[in-house]
Amino acid sequence: MVTVITVDIGGTSMRAAAYSPESLQPLIRNKIPTTSAGEPVFERLIGLIQSVWPKDGEVRAISTASAGPLDPNTGFVFDAPNIPGWKNFPLGDKLKEVFPVPIFLGNDANLAALGEWKYGAGVGHQNLIYLTISTGIGGGIICNDLLLEGSQGLAAELGHITVLPDGPLCSCGKQGHLEAISSGPAIVNYVRQMLISGETSKLDLKEDFNAYDVSRAAKEGDQLAIRGYARAGKFLGQALASFIHILNPSIIIFGGGVSQSGALLFDPMFEKLNADIMHSSYLEGLKFAPAMLGDDAGLLGALALAHRKLQIT
Ligand SMILES: [Zn+2]
Repeated sequence: MVTVITVDIGGTSMRAAAYSPESLQPLIRNKIPTTSAGEPVFERLIGLIQSVWPKDGEVRAISTASAGPLDPNTGFVFDAPNIPGWKNFPLGDKLKEVFPVPIFLGNDANLAALGEWKYGAGVGHQNLIYLTISTGIGGGIICNDLLLEGSQGLAAELGHITVLPDGPLCSCGKQGHLEAISSGPAIVNYVRQMLISGETSKLDLKEDFNAYDVSRAAKEGDQLAIRGYARAGKFLGQALASFIHILNPSIIIFGGGVSQSGALLFDPMFEKLNADIMHSSYLEGLKFAPAMLGDDAGLLGALALAHRKLQIT
């Protein structure tokens, strides 16, 4: 049997699966923690791929979704902050040295967008924006049925649009990016800053609360927690208006844990989006949908990439 192996490399866990060309159900899959004391991540990755390698038949390709930024043409990872040792790391070349099959590689958020477009919430849409809001904010864009990669594969870093000049410091080292205001840790940071400045809340500075704890407090009526989410939603709406003006999509798909906080985030987002959009026609027929592929987004996005490269429909 002919098989495609797909891999999803994240900061916490790595997954791999083997697929036959006819099915979205993997023949075999496996998941391991990304790091383990004393063993380099790349060695663990090799073992993971070998664990799903079919006992008989041909492997057509290994297709990999990885934290980036990375160059999908060369397989060169510029920087994966959550993966120890993966700065200027030639992942594609190193995989080629071990496995004698074509290696395809893509940024995880870009491939999640491709997966949602081909198999998930974006089926039938030619122009799509995918936004994942969790520890960071990642993005992917489908434009006229093509994944927008840019000249070096670095396009669609939607979390790093500047929404507040001189605003909070972003994980990338620059200031005022959307990720620095609307990601989970950014919401927590804002609440902590307000507590330090003397505001009162049921959230306690002495405790190590996360974005989910803030959302729970907000749902119980805590005004500071509500404001933390409202601020995140407002800047998200501001950013979305710009994305929509540039790309004129027919659907925007939200993934990631923070996007599951519902009206807390989305009511302020829609209010700001409606205020900022330059003409209502941009919003006519525009759909907003939750991501459908869940934990499989990376694996299925990598599968979609392999099918495109191998010209399997
Ligand atoms: Zn940034």
